Amino acid sequence: MKDNNGKKGITAILLVLIVLILGTAGFLVYRVVEGRVTPMDVFSATNSKDASMTESGLADMESSGAALSDTSADEAASGVTGSGAALSGTASGAASSSNAAADTTKSASTTASAPAPTTAATPTPTPDPVSQQSVNDISIQDLSQYRSEMPADGQEIVGTSTSAYTYEQMVKDLYFLSVRYPGLMTYDSLGVTADQRSIMEAVIGNPQASRHIVVQYSIHAREYINSLLAMRQLETYLENVSGGGTFNGRTYTDLFSNVCIHLLPMANPDGVTVSESGLAGLRRERMQQIVHWCWESDTGLGRTSQPIEQYLKTFKANANGVDLNKNFDIGWSGYTDGVPVPSTDCYKGGAAASEPETQAILKAVESNPTVCVIAYHSSGDTIYWNYGTSGDILESDRYLAESVRNLTGYALSNSKKYDHTLAGGCADYFVWAKGIPSITIETGTGNCPLDISKFAHIWDKNKEVLPLLASMYGS
Ligand SMILES: [Zn+2]
Repeated sequence: MKDNNGKKGITAILLVLIVLILGTAGFLVYRVVEGRVTPMDVFSATNSKDASMTESGLADMESSGAALSDTSADEAASGVTGSGAALSGTASGAASSSNAAADTTKSASTTASAPAPTTAATPTPTPDPVSQQSVNDISIQDLSQYRSEMPADGQEIVGTSTSAYTYEQMVKDLYFLSVRYPGLMTYDSLGVTADQRSIMEAVIGNPQASRHIVVQYSIHAREYINSLLAMRQLETYLENVSGGGTFNGRTYTDLFSNVCIHLLPMANPDGVTVSESGLAGLRRERMQQIVHWCWESDTGLGRTSQPIEQYLKTFKANANGVDLNKNFDIGWSGYTDGVPVPSTDCYKGGAAASEPETQAILKAVESNPTVCVIAYHSSGDTIYWNYGTSGDILESDRYLAESVRNLTGYALSNSKKYDHTLAGGCADYFVWAKGIPSITIETGTGNCPLDISKFAHIWDKNKEVLPLLASMYGS
């Protein structure tokens, strides 16, 4: 009896232990499925280290506003990569943009080459409420309803009272400019972002020309002062072409008669909105959750110690937490030292060109015979060029870089070639993959976002870049 009782006691203890183990395991699975495992949990469990905070090779002088450390990420957990890819793939799937680059958008299934995550940190507990078909940017529908807000004749349309030039204001101003200057410009949407904003382009010059130029601004969210620059450049062009203005002795009409310029004034409208207006500016709860998750994750990784309000002000990525200037298919797969999950920067995305913003830029360039690409960033008063090319491409890139240098007075800097520590950016991609002369212009000085007090200097340096490009490529 005594032995028998002893066995029963041991059996009872074993049963209790089994129940405890199963219960704990079940709770953990529930937490993971519900997305309640925090990035802290995931990263402490996988022993991930911080990632390099080196800015793009094109933008080494861009100051990092966040309190970020710069230890290497060689040991970043592969399991976390899987979860990041899954997140990005799902989110970018909400975008309706499709173009030549779309076949590289394979989303999560093809990017999960890393081992399956053991503790998937799903930041979005709710299903995606927006289907691919229903994505639509309501803010560009029927812009004529804003007609009464249009500045009176004689007043400039693009105001410079604040550097926080919003997406909504940009859309209205594009409409107003098209009303004031009929036949001299068009605007269009190149795609729709995850948070349902249109990636707008304005087209000036001769759309039938054999040479096209693409200029994109604010691919990094907190560098939004360049969206204001873009719109001021556009309005100034329109004033000059309609008023008989000249550049270097030639009229604007003559300069632009044989060239077409595509301006993407706000290539990352979701990110700009985060940087300007915080989470409340985002339209979809899912995107608010993802950006909030980025802050938790970057905090857990030791990449930031900022409170969320400040973190959002210095945000660089898009609403999927993808650093768009590391999402181009140049050195993409070899770039392994970035952040393996959505973040304010250095997360390259689930696949090359996975993001609708990247696809929009590709579409603008590849839909036309493009001979020059300009990528505007901040800050540094510097032009990055020379990505390691040679021969004719190097010389045509030199011609572009030196011409813009001579106009702006900005310094010339050699860009670092992409490697495992550095993904290629937009300009690297077009030089290397397409043989198109491309440079990165870093405007202004100081930490981003730059205050409006910096704009006069930026404007002074860049007000004639568009007519310069027309004079170089339009004849
Ligand atoms: Zn930048």
